Amino acid sequence: MTIQEALDQYNSWKFRLSAYEMALSIINIDRMTVAPSDGSAYRDERTAYLSGEKFSIETDPSILPVLDLLIGQPGVDSDIRREAELYRREFMKIHVIPKEEYVAFSKAATSSYDAWLKARQNNDYSIFEPHLKGMIEWQKKLYGYRKSDRPLYEQMLDDYEPGTDIAFYDRFFDRLKERLIPLIQKVQNAEPIDDSFLKQSFPEELQKKWTSDVLLPYLGFTKNWGYQNETEHPFTAWTCENDCRTTTRYEEYNMTAAIFSTIHEVGHAWYEHNVSPKFDGTILSTGISSGMHESQSRFCENYLGRSFPFWKANYTSLQNTFPDQLRDIPLEQFVRAVNASKCGLIRTAADELTYPVHILIRYELEKGLFGGSIPFEQLKEAWNDLYRQYLGVEVPSDCEGILQDVHWSDGSFGYFPTYALGSAFAAQFYHRMREEIAVDNYLERSEYCTCIDWLKTHIHRYGALYPAAKIMELSTGEPFNPGYYLDYLEEKYSRLYYL
Ligand code: ZN
Repeated sequence: MTIQEALDQYNSWKFRLSAYEMALSIINIDRMTVAPSDGSAYRDERTAYLSGEKFSIETDPSILPVLDLLIGQPGVDSDIRREAELYRREFMKIHVIPKEEYVAFSKAATSSYDAWLKARQNNDYSIFEPHLKGMIEWQKKLYGYRKSDRPLYEQMLDDYEPGTDIAFYDRFFDRLKERLIPLIQKVQNAEPIDDSFLKQSFPEELQKKWTSDVLLPYLGFTKNWGYQNETEHPFTAWTCENDCRTTTRYEEYNMTAAIFSTIHEVGHAWYEHNVSPKFDGTILSTGISSGMHESQSRFCENYLGRSFPFWKANYTSLQNTFPDQLRDIPLEQFVRAVNASKCGLIRTAADELTYPVHILIRYELEKGLFGGSIPFEQLKEAWNDLYRQYLGVEVPSDCEGILQDVHWSDGSFGYFPTYALGSAFAAQFYHRMREEIAVDNYLERSEYCTCIDWLKTHIHRYGALYPAAKIMELSTGEPFNPGYYLDYLEEKYSRLYYL
């Protein structure tokens, strides 16, 4: 085979694969947002079929020699070689799984998700419990095909954040525990910040109007490349850099929920939108890892979105939209309130300071579950115990405890730790960005996109061209250092609570 023949075959294979990926992505977005529930059985059957077809393309044995040829030829463009390496890595992970097993897993994951929804509606873990057990068994089986000698949980961690292992995360979470648990204690004992005014009635229609008229334009999220919908659990999905879909959730008595989930999800969307278009339709055309993706969304949500300058630009219009609720609340008080910290039960509602502890809990649970120290039957008790131990809260119901997250319902284990890692990555980017550009001035002047441009130049445009560790070094000049995150939280919360 000549290089040209290999490239032709490779390009046609990539194109077919990306077409299936696009179709499945749109079907999934539709399912999670607007698709009527009674059509699910019909849809799920055909979606599983399409997933199977995509699987056949991904594991087509004739592509392996093509990938090997491209990887081994120094004359081939280095971007293409990197692509081929990543495709090969994915190929090796999944080609060992029999197709019928893969399709059966996809179906089981969909019904497990449906059972999780039903369990939540009934606030009853026992409805979901057998499905969760099924998902764990499925993952053991699927990973078993890889015949890796690494511990199962470590393989899962590495899938979401390539290059990480249990020792890495143990060190990371130990450092977090060491400094954050005492800090959280101090904050809990300090004079509480009054954020009760945020829990008044804020009519949803007005919230939506403010989001579309003020917030989304400020964030630069425009209709030619992005679209926002509503879901119970906000998420972002995409088909290419010019088709990014986000969702948010409006709550009448919690106006900031929609604001911060919007800023967060649009942060994810910006990452995808800013990947160099030359990578379109390839494996490079997406964020490099879950942690890096989360670093971008959390950067926007917390480091920019909860800052004083951000609200200096946006608060007056919010006050004008809700004069009765906010007229007597000065800007300073509003900003303190949106940063208030309180030990709670719900991860997605957690403040910036206690959030990583929710993740630490899930990390310890998953590690214990797959490492054998937590028997499946005791998972719920272990969950409740860790919440008591680390956050001092009692879990009163399944919905506020083990049923709160969607991730386990489709077998996504090993994903949670990337949330805390992303927050920590973001702190290091933030430190560096502030050295290079006048972040506060841009936010105040409604030039949010200048901050996004910094992220584009240093992170987004690469897509998956470089590993996360290399992007960190290129953009900040040093390896990942969680010290930035801990310093940031200590400084911010000491200031907020006058510690
Ligand atoms: Zn996110």
